[in-house]
Amino acid sequence: MGSIEARPRSPRRPATMSEFLASGVTSYSFEFFPPKTPGGERHLWTALREIEALRPSFVSVTYGAGGSTRDGTVRISERIGTETSLTPIAHLTAVNHSRAELRRVIGSYAGAGIRDILALRGDPPGNPLGTWVRHPNGFAYADELVTFVRSLGDFCVGVAAFPDKHPRAADLDADARVLAGKFRAGAGYAITQFFFDADAYFRLVERLARLGCDQPIVPGVMPVTNVAQITRMAQLSGAAFPPALARRLEAVADDAMAVREIGIEVATALSARLLAGGAPGLHFITLNRSTATRDVYRNLVGSAVGPAAGAAA
Ligand code: FAD
Repeated sequence: MGSIEARPRSPRRPATMSEFLASGVTSYSFEFFPPKTPGGERHLWTALREIEALRPSFVSVTYGAGGSTRDGTVRISERIGTETSLTPIAHLTAVNHSRAELRRVIGSYAGAGIRDILALRGDPPGNPLGTWVRHPNGFAYADELVTFVRSLGDFCVGVAAFPDKHPRAADLDADARVLAGKFRAGAGYAITQFFFDADAYFRLVERLARLGCDQPIVPGVMPVTNVAQITRMAQLSGAAFPPALARRLEAVADDAMAVREIGIEVATALSARLLAGGAPGLHFITLNRSTATRDVYRNLVGSAVGPAAGAAA
């Protein structure tokens, strides 16, 4: 199979996520999703410009269920790479895709100058907890997608990790073995699902170390700004929602500002503990709204701007 060359997007090649993490500089990345409406697109670019001012290490762009945002993911990642100073990580899932289709998407990423790909299996469209059906010419699990992307060219590939275990995994040890398999397939790092208990993250890192894996695992952090939304997301993702936090939020459920303040306070405390305990960076899930994650980031690093990815190249 021929290899796909990523188009260089600047004379000074930016560091990939793996290269950046290897430099030992704390990585701060922010996750966005491709919007479906012109209004959503305006929100996204406003949020991206606000995040750009912080000089984050990377921004990532999700891949919609069943490839529904494929063109949006490619287009937005390319615009980020060419029109901003940010370095994009493009997500990719195996849902409903043949190998030939996946190869085309990866070729589009390369054509857009994207070298960083987060390789995921994805969830069944419609009902994330429904039956997973593999495309007859596609892949069953993310480790196969990692091998495939790596076989096609000089890509830096990241994968998903789950401090509270993936909802379909039998137990925490089985879940850790799956992550180890993705590292063995060639993933250079992992980004976790959001979670609320720092110890769950540290225990995941220890389980991987016992399996001989020392690849960086970047914690995913999502400040609670909307109780109903995060409760639903936690149910679908398997994240354990701590009862004490739920009680605090319920007590102020009618006061959006109070909910937001608690969310930022809790996310800041969690982030600080993760970094103090040795986490290599933080990956903020923004839901395309920059203000809450910017507040957490500022609480952590003050008004200082973060290191740009190119700085480590
Ligand atoms: P896998 O690693 O393949 O695991 C899927 C399930 O199969 C798990 O239960 C696992 O334990 C099991 N399993 C894996 N390998 C084997 C094996 N060899 N034998 C037996 N069982 C196995 N979804 C999107 O649709 N778009 C996105 O952009 C997106 N971005 C994400 C970003 C992050 C940081 C995270 C944490 C998740 C993201 N997701 C996204 C969600 C993700 O696609 C789902 O959580 C999905 O259910 C699992 O994907 P995975 O890559 O971990 O799959």
